[in-house]
Amino acid sequence: MGNEKIGKGKKGPMKNTSGITTSKCERCGENLRIRITSWFTNETIGLKCMAEEDALKNTMSLLKMNPDEHKGCGREQYEKIKQIVSQVA
Ligand SMILES: [Zn+2]
Repeated sequence: MGNEKIGKGKKGPMKNTSGITTSKCERCGENLRIRITSWFTNETIGLKCMAEEDALKNTMSLLKMNPDEHKGCGREQYEKIKQIVSQVA
């Protein structure tokens, strides 16, 4: 049998069965299936940006910068931390 044509996935706001409205990552703009609140900036972010934050938190721990002290520190501070870590690491 021939392959069925696969339709292009519709991208747009949708509600899943658990009632969570999908939206876009406030940081990189990707469409989100899972919404996560940023550790540093309280923005709604996706898995990709969360992975970035997790990696940063790990590096911070190695550098004896306590990530807990920077919870909700805001975008500007988050960018500063990223810079510091990238210079040291
Ligand atoms: Zn993102």
